[in-house]
Amino acid sequence: MFPNPQALSQAALDHYVHSNTDLDKHRQTGSMLMVEGDGVRVKDAQGRSYIEGVAALWCAGLGFNEPRLADAAARQMRRLSYYHNFAAKSADVPVALAERLAEMAPGDLNRVMFATSGSEANDTAVKLAWYYHNALGQPAKKKIIARRQAYHGVTVASGSMTQLAAINGGFDLPIDRFIHTDCPHYWRFAEPGESEADYATRLADSLERLILAEGPETIAAMIAEPMMGVGGVLFPPETYFPKIQSVLHKYDILLIADEVICGFGRLGTMFGSTYFGVTPDIMTLGKQITSAAFPLSAILMTDRVFDVIAAESGRRGTFGHGYTYAGHPVGAAVAMEVLDIYQERDILSHVRRMGRVLHDRLAALADHPLVGEVRGDGLVAAVQLVDDKAARCFFDPAQGVAKGVAAHLQENGVILRVLSNDSIAIAPPLIIGEHDLTLLLDRLESSLNWAA
Ligand code: PLP
Repeated sequence: MFPNPQALSQAALDHYVHSNTDLDKHRQTGSMLMVEGDGVRVKDAQGRSYIEGVAALWCAGLGFNEPRLADAAARQMRRLSYYHNFAAKSADVPVALAERLAEMAPGDLNRVMFATSGSEANDTAVKLAWYYHNALGQPAKKKIIARRQAYHGVTVASGSMTQLAAINGGFDLPIDRFIHTDCPHYWRFAEPGESEADYATRLADSLERLILAEGPETIAAMIAEPMMGVGGVLFPPETYFPKIQSVLHKYDILLIADEVICGFGRLGTMFGSTYFGVTPDIMTLGKQITSAAFPLSAILMTDRVFDVIAAESGRRGTFGHGYTYAGHPVGAAVAMEVLDIYQERDILSHVRRMGRVLHDRLAALADHPLVGEVRGDGLVAAVQLVDDKAARCFFDPAQGVAKGVAAHLQENGVILRVLSNDSIAIAPPLIIGEHDLTLLLDRLESSLNWAA
């Protein structure tokens, strides 16, 4: 039933279009085909095994072959393999999952919708914000503020909130209605001598100036990842979110927390919002909700937002939004099993314990001549490479230094990811143990030494 992956190399060259890949170069280099998972490891068609140091796309929290997820999916497929959630009908499991997410989520994020990807979840959040303000008789409130270097996905609305040249180049994004404010990276963007608190105040002031320049009556929502992942593993100063939230409150602007990476333990707390004390109006979840074993995402909204939306749908006769696969029962069954496993294994304590191993070791790497900054918490980190440590001067992207380090690591059995040309992300499956984590870090250090 399965094709022979080794024989598929030519098919990959002739037929397969990758994402986030230089497609022209791919004609020469071909594809790396993964054929098996074993805990935190994946094996390619040549039989080489790798520690997946970024949990693939920050998502395979339980690794790559958790048997309980296979059993949960199979059980649900035999019971009820599909039902939609239109017209007040639904499979039963997604309802149980909604109740569980509402109990887990901070504040009164009590109403839950489902989708299949982070991009769709963020698109849905934007539509909710528009619908909400229309319902309140504020139809001019349409603009969405995101942050520079943000990654919120690639569909037209999510892609318009993403602001990374490598992702948006050639696609004419952002479209109208999407604007961007500062990226909160203290190490990189603070003025000399500026404290973290002053830097956070400056960013909040800059946000307020943007809102006033655009007209507060035109702004619907701001979207923010609590910790910016793809943009570089950026943790804002402690006072950043409280200050940003007070500006948003002042102008009646909703806050959407994009928890697609942070959600379900990555920072050692269940959600990034909990970590930073953020109280969003809308929260989007994906990736680790099913440990990536099934495509599922969720959109949570507060009772206040829901009540406005429900009343408006009453006036219109329906709430005209939904996806064929929203609330897929197999995805919901997998998510329920994942949440059971996170709970049984006390995954948050494990992440905090392994996080200490990771960050103690990275702190020692901060003196390395190629390393400008190490940052992160829990099981997520970035090693920022610099050409000139004292001047905080970055390598010319054409030199491909970070890519060279990642390629060297891959030859040595560890997959890590380069972000924004110059930093290396570490975000292993949440279940990684000390032995594999130490192995990963040993190899990272060797590759940095090799590149120095
Ligand atoms: N939001 C964040 C913070 C992400 O990191 C990603 C993907 O990496 C997305 C949204 C988009 O999710 P998806 O690729 O499932 O559409």
